[in-house]
Formats: sequence, structure tokens, C-alpha cells
Amino acid sequence: MRVLVIEDETRLASTLQDLLELNGYAADVCHDGEAGLDNALTAIYDVIILDVMLPKMDGFTVLRRLRAAENAVPVLMLTARSEISDKVQGLDCGADYYLTKPFDPKELLACIRALTRRQPELRNTDVLEFNGLRLEKNAFTLSYEDRSVRLSRKEFDLMELLLLNRNLVLTKESLLVKIWGYESEAEDNNVEVYISFLRKKLTHLRANVRIRTIRMVGYCLEAAED
Ligand code: CA
Repeated sequence: MRVLVIEDETRLASTLQDLLELNGYAADVCHDGEAGLDNALTAIYDVIILDVMLPKMDGFTVLRRLRAAENAVPVLMLTARSEISDKVQGLDCGADYYLTKPFDPKELLACIRALTRRQPELRNTDVLEFNGLRLEKNAFTLSYEDRSVRLSRKEFDLMELLLLNRNLVLTKESLLVKIWGYESEAEDNNVEVYISFLRKKLTHLRANVRIRTIRMVGYCLEAAED
């Protein structure tokens, strides 16, 4: 796993590099946006950690150009600013995650693990499987044993996120942002509605998998007990 750190604060950059190397990653550092973009475009990286305020080219521009070049490397944006508008701009430019400085190194490492774990499945697998439940990406179907149902686009997106993050709690807010986007007028209620659609389909399939509600937080896809 190779990580590119694009960060102009040299102390923070070398702290990040040390942290990554200690945890088994190869890490390269660039101190400005132009050099960062040039390196990122080599497409040898598994994750990019990208600061927003950078000399020569800001992080948003780096990210936009990277995505315009059809480079889909997961990008974790880092910034001292915490305004929601920055987060929106970062996510709109194609960031996969946004972390505000100062951050907990454990959280950063957890993000990197999540981003690198998710990506190969997203890229290479047509079928996601969990405890006998299968989501077929090309056919938009969810199946269990010999039973199968078609999913709508939103149901599919939601099921895919739940499967990729099985046994982890997904907040309503993160589901809303990932599936409906920040700009949309959708509310928490939409998530609840689609979760209930998926639950009906899981019941219909008699699948040994359930979507558990974590009160006041969100949902978790897990193996059913019996
Ligand atoms: Ca900076």
C-alpha cells in the first residue's frame, strides 16, 4: 500500500509520513499542489492525503484535475477549516473523506483502512456477498439461496454501502450524503423509507442477514441470529 501525502506544513507532513510508515504503508510527501498533482497522476498510489490550503495549487483544484483525468484513487482531504461549505466543496470535487485538523492519528488510520478496504471490491467485483446474501451489480438483484429480487437504483446504492461496511454502524447522515448528496433536499426520512424497503426484501428472501437500527445513530448490516 502506497500513500501520497500532499501537505505544505513540513512538520505535519513528516509526522504523517512517520505514522504511515510505522503502520506498514509506503509514504511519499509533496509540499505543494503542483508537485502533488504530478505525483498523484502517476496512479501508483492506493490513497492520497490532500491538504486544502497549499502553495501553487489548492487542494480542491488538485482533486478536480485528478478526477478530470479519470483517476479514481481514494482521496482523504485534510484541512484546518471546519466550515460545512469546505466539506461540501471537497465532496463535490470528488473527495472520499474529509478530516479536520487537528485530527486523531487513530481516526486517520481508520479512514485509510476503510478507503483501501472498500476500493478493490468497488472496482473488481460484480457480486458482493455476505452470509449467503448476494448483491449482483450488473443485474441490480439481491438474492438468497434460490430466491431473488430486483432493486431500484437507490435501494441498490444503499444495499451496496451496507454490504461494503458490514458489521459497521453507518450513520443516517453519512448514508444521506453518500446516496442523495449534500445538495439534495432528501432528509433522514428518505433513509428510513429505503431501509424499510430493503428490510421487506430481506424478509421476502428469508435471508439470514438483517439491518439493525442503532438508536439515534444509524444502521448496521449483520448476520441474523437464527
Ligand atoms: Ca496547508
